[in-house]
Amino acid sequence: MRTVNAYAAISATEPLVPVTIERRDVGAKDVLIEIRYAGVCHSDIHTVRGEWGQMTYPLTVGHEIVGVVAEVGTGVSKHAVGDRVGVGCMVNSCRECAACLAGEEQYCSNGNTGTYASVDRDGTITQGGYSTHVVVDEDFVLRVPEAIPYEAAAPLLCAGITTYSPLRHWKAGPGSRVAVVGLGGLGHMAVKLAHAMGAEVTVLSQSLKKKDDGLRLGADHYYATSDPATFTDLDSSFDLIINTVSAVIDLDAYLGLLALDGTMVNVGAPPQALPIHVFTLFGNRRSFAGSGIGGIRETQEMLDFCAEHGIASDVEVIGATQINQAYERVLASDVRYRFVIDVDTLR
Ligand code: NAP
Ligand code: ZN
Ligand code: ZN
Repeated sequence: MRTVNAYAAISATEPLVPVTIERRDVGAKDVLIEIRYAGVCHSDIHTVRGEWGQMTYPLTVGHEIVGVVAEVGTGVSKHAVGDRVGVGCMVNSCRECAACLAGEEQYCSNGNTGTYASVDRDGTITQGGYSTHVVVDEDFVLRVPEAIPYEAAAPLLCAGITTYSPLRHWKAGPGSRVAVVGLGGLGHMAVKLAHAMGAEVTVLSQSLKKKDDGLRLGADHYYATSDPATFTDLDSSFDLIINTVSAVIDLDAYLGLLALDGTMVNVGAPPQALPIHVFTLFGNRRSFAGSGIGGIRETQEMLDFCAEHGIASDVEVIGATQINQAYERVLASDVRYRFVIDVDTLR
């Protein structure tokens, strides 16, 4: 065991505080990572505040992790000391079920092991990336291409793959009209990725405040959802809508924007149920779908795609002491476009 510095929530209602946590000894298949940067995902906030269910505290979150390999176990073949690596939302899975065998470990029928707040194989609760080191099975460690700076790579491990996977699954590309709802951490990656895949991209944001940014990130069009005319002007005009909103929205209004056989994919994860009127789906034979992160193979593919297309996240680097302030800004939709913790400030 090794004791390392971290930030943790001590309850659902109090600010995160500095703590120390234990990391297991490096096993034969394990990689010890010295963490450099950790992204702040809205899921971290939902989790620590108990919005998705009761948690065991203290809890260290963070599942957008990048760093350097500091030590490897005797049986490790995929990574070496000094490599630039990343860890996303999962650190293990059963490896035997149909989903795992298909490389879709996020849908492991025996439940994947989340990077934080999951029961690990040794019975402990996994602790995430707001910390100086982490020990992870080599199969769940990604290679971070040299072309992507560490801090800009961190958010790719969740925001990047969570938007890349549905864009690929629903075949975004030349000729497809893609709308992205919400220009936050996930949304800004969806815009960059859909644009790089060749799709025509529209941002649907609450206001026009971030319009210049949206167009710079790769959007072709930008509309404010606070303006009712948006929903009449854009009626039946998208093949794919990626909804990244962390709160409840009027799904029927957005579903009406889908063209014939269009699909709206929900990646936003508000704690409350989202009502849908089925008649909205009958029109244009629309589909409503969900998508969770992405498998390890696809996450590596996404990192390589980003390197090849010169894409990474737009980040605001913060020190560890600014985490609680950053949470408030995320909740106020005031993030441009991902907070990333400089983990050196924790050492
Ligand atoms: P974020 O940075 O806070 O972005 C969410 C965006 O949604 C905001 O920037 C805002 O965009 C819009 N928004 C927020 N509140 C709204 C409201 N009340 N009405 C309308 N729009 C609103 O969050 P994130 O890190 O991208 O995460 C987004 C959601 O995805 C969270 O619920 C998170 O838990 C979930 N998530 C899911 C997965 C998955 O596997 N499916 C993975 C990661 C995250 P505008 O200012 O442009 O309107
Ligand atoms: Zn996340
Ligand atoms: Zn499995």
